[in-house]
Amino acid sequence: MRIAFAGFHIESVSFLTQEATYGMFDASAARAADIFGRYCGTNTVPGGVIKAGAAAGLDLMPIVYAYQGAVGPASDEAVERYCAEICAALEAVRGDLAGVILHLHGAAVSPSHTDVEFLFIENIRRVIGDLPLVVAFDYHGNISPASVALLDAAVAYKTSPHVDMGQTGERAVGWMSRLLAGPDRVSMAIAKPPLILPSVFSATNLDPLASIMAEAARIEDEAPGALDISVMAGFSYADTKDTGFSVIVVGETGQSEVDAIAEGLAETIWSERRALSAPAPVYSLADAVDYAAIKAKYARAPIVLLEHADRMNDSTHLLKALIDKGVKKVAVPFIWDEAAVRAAISAGAGQETVLHIGAWSSARAGKRLQVRCKVIETGLKTYRISGPMLTGQAVDLGDTALIDIDGIIVSLVSRFAFAVDEDAFTIFGLNPRDFGVIVLRSKTHFRAVYEDIAEEIIIVDTPDWGTSNLNDLPYSKLDRTAVYPLNALAKASVLPGGKQ
Ligand SMILES: [Zn+2]
Repeated sequence: MRIAFAGFHIESVSFLTQEATYGMFDASAARAADIFGRYCGTNTVPGGVIKAGAAAGLDLMPIVYAYQGAVGPASDEAVERYCAEICAALEAVRGDLAGVILHLHGAAVSPSHTDVEFLFIENIRRVIGDLPLVVAFDYHGNISPASVALLDAAVAYKTSPHVDMGQTGERAVGWMSRLLAGPDRVSMAIAKPPLILPSVFSATNLDPLASIMAEAARIEDEAPGALDISVMAGFSYADTKDTGFSVIVVGETGQSEVDAIAEGLAETIWSERRALSAPAPVYSLADAVDYAAIKAKYARAPIVLLEHADRMNDSTHLLKALIDKGVKKVAVPFIWDEAAVRAAISAGAGQETVLHIGAWSSARAGKRLQVRCKVIETGLKTYRISGPMLTGQAVDLGDTALIDIDGIIVSLVSRFAFAVDEDAFTIFGLNPRDFGVIVLRSKTHFRAVYEDIAEEIIIVDTPDWGTSNLNDLPYSKLDRTAVYPLNALAKASVLPGGKQ
């Protein structure tokens, strides 16, 4: 049974102008047997597909796996070339093919394509006819009913932090196996409760999301046949007509049953919309820095300040406020700034210098900072992720520099990377526990590691594009009248002082 596997992954903030180009994707893309070599044994979707595919006796044919993280739009060229490459490879083996498994994020956009996943699915479906087509999505995907209508099965991560990427790949293989055994036995439904959520509130261990996930798990456990429920929070910073929650249900239980389960969970999500939109306090910049400065003096463990609205790892709002306040023993890992790295390398390790840092992605990222600092070290850094999410995946930061701004230790990197585990410290010989304050830019993924390390997590709202104030975003594709909390009903319920 020859099953093709391919992936195209990017989480796109529509409002950013920097495009992820074909060249950026292709610098790290893997093809053919190299996909096995790079991903076998990793906690990733391809890692899970490889593991479960071997166990199920599938003859996997890896085509191409192009992966970017959470940045701006993809370029049209990147989307169209990878789609064409996958379709051409499928066309070439059409006679030997039994099915296709894809890994797509679900929140990719490009200038000409607001539903990139539908573009891939529609074109691939045209090539493969009625062969089984299964997709593994990210939990933050904005899935269109049109995409689901062309698929035989779809699954998404059930956790955020996404520690179940490998399991999601395994679930995709499980449904492919069932489809190969009897395609008519598998039914799928999608329901879309009309609400959007800030990513920082999409952690699946925060209530009421945690309770909704537990309810979905209970329904799965009690089902008479195989049943797979993906509750997806969506991604509010990709501006599309389908932005928002999705509930996708795949089962051997019959169409009316999966329809009813999807609609029932969608109703539960809608009924919890107010609590879902405010599961944790969010602090202003000034309040958060004042609080952290006092608290860090007495804390036995670090305080995490979460500059979650930063989508490009270059916001300077918190760094500036901490410098102005004179807070010491602060760590600010993984500011993405290639120019600042080059300047630090020119100055040289051990030297005092003046650098300009951050705020290159948009005016919302703050002011580019001029700082006097000491360059502690510079150098190329590559590593394999040791944390629970994306375990084993290779990371290439390019050139890096570690600098000291009067007690604030900042690592500057040349390529985008998530500071969500201890690797962001250990690769520089540091330990996060040695700091009083740690500035992270994650939304949910840091929780898998930093809920244990940190004494307290303080969510700080800054004006960057990932703000928790979704009413502040200039949507043009999403129908503002149709989703909570943008619609008139939600605005009517805004309390004095602007708090929801
Ligand atoms: Zn995600």
